Amino acid sequence: MRTITLLGATGSIGKSALDVIARHPQRYCVHALTANGSVDALAELAARHRAAVAVIGDASQEAALRAALQRHGATTVARAGAAALAEAASAPEADTVIAAIVGAAGLMPTLAAARSGKRLLLANKEAIVCAGGLLVAALRASGGELLPVDSEHSAIHQCLAGTGETQRTSARLVLTASGGPFLRRDDLDDVTPDEACAHPNWVMGRKISVDSATLMNKGLEVIEAAWLFDMPAERIEVVIHPQSVIHSMVEYADGSVMAQLGTPDMRTPLAYALAWPERIASGAQRLDFSRLAALTFEAPDMRRFPCLGFAYAALRAGGAASAVLNAANEFAVEAFLQRRLPFTQIAPTIERVLDAYQPPAPAGIEEVLEIDRQARQRAARAAAQHV
Ligand code: NDP
Repeated sequence: MRTITLLGATGSIGKSALDVIARHPQRYCVHALTANGSVDALAELAARHRAAVAVIGDASQEAALRAALQRHGATTVARAGAAALAEAASAPEADTVIAAIVGAAGLMPTLAAARSGKRLLLANKEAIVCAGGLLVAALRASGGELLPVDSEHSAIHQCLAGTGETQRTSARLVLTASGGPFLRRDDLDDVTPDEACAHPNWVMGRKISVDSATLMNKGLEVIEAAWLFDMPAERIEVVIHPQSVIHSMVEYADGSVMAQLGTPDMRTPLAYALAWPERIASGAQRLDFSRLAALTFEAPDMRRFPCLGFAYAALRAGGAASAVLNAANEFAVEAFLQRRLPFTQIAPTIERVLDAYQPPAPAGIEEVLEIDRQARQRAARAAAQHV
């Protein structure tokens, strides 16, 4: 029986994870669930999944959470605030943590989980993008184990399984990208947040949906893959595959290419990571090969989608560049979602910050957080110049 803490339980990944967990009551139980401000949704989930602890990130909501838990008839203990999130992530009662908070806000609890030697199921890609070195070192020191939740990295994990170290070091990773909602749309001047969030194949939270529309999501995934699989940028390729059936591939020295396929449903990689090295039912629909008309591939257009190039450049630059990229992107995406920045100004805003702010490599987590703060301030100034 595995005991689970789920960070970001009220989100898209959180709900998919709870769906898989509920299908296997003999295998999994919930210790703690967390959210940021969705008090009632969190209380309802805590009651339904009999969580021992519920944590709300917004410290001012503790009393509201306690009241909501009571309304839902839950015996769950209510906690609140940033320290309580990190405590839940490292609590000895859980052996598995699913990191599914969106953005750099998830960094501290994710790092706390990595430091506590648990199985860490990582969806929160921004955490590894801005502090990959610290996260990997923490896992190594604690004996913790990381399993990717992102469907592309799960696919690569599956394609690499059983491969010897020598073969692995000469392999090439091929990350597939749907291309997002604007793959074939030229005029992006008047794009609305709802249009940007209408992903053709996946239903996801709003931030990652916008990242998919700019291809920044793929860029963040390139950096994530470099950390997870210890690969240089030169051996990570991105290919547009609009059907989202192949979730990623690995090419070996002999020319063989291994691919992982499935319907676009995050319950598949979540079930893989929860049960690894076993396999369990996820609830995802099976692929119907008789209805797959075609699987097509094309190179990404780096001119129309410059964010992918920014991410490659940040990976190659190393040091603090990925943390700056991530913070500037988070600021610009939030500004776009709040209709304070046009879609077409997301990339220029990020570029200005990257050009002007190149701090030295962070030595510790406090420096990462400071770089994140500074980059957001600079992004605010860069965005103001555009509007
Ligand atoms: P959602 O926006 O749907 O959910 C985000 C979750 O994080 C919610 O539970 C939210 O709580 C919580 N949260 C937000 N801000 C904070 C904060 N400051 N402190 C604590 N908790 C916070 O996001 P997704 O589920 O789409 O994505 C989660 C992560 O998984 C992202 O990093 C994303 O890149 C990654 N991912 C997502 C995929 C998907 O299919 N959705 C696929 C692959 C990766 P509240 O509801 O209270 O706001």
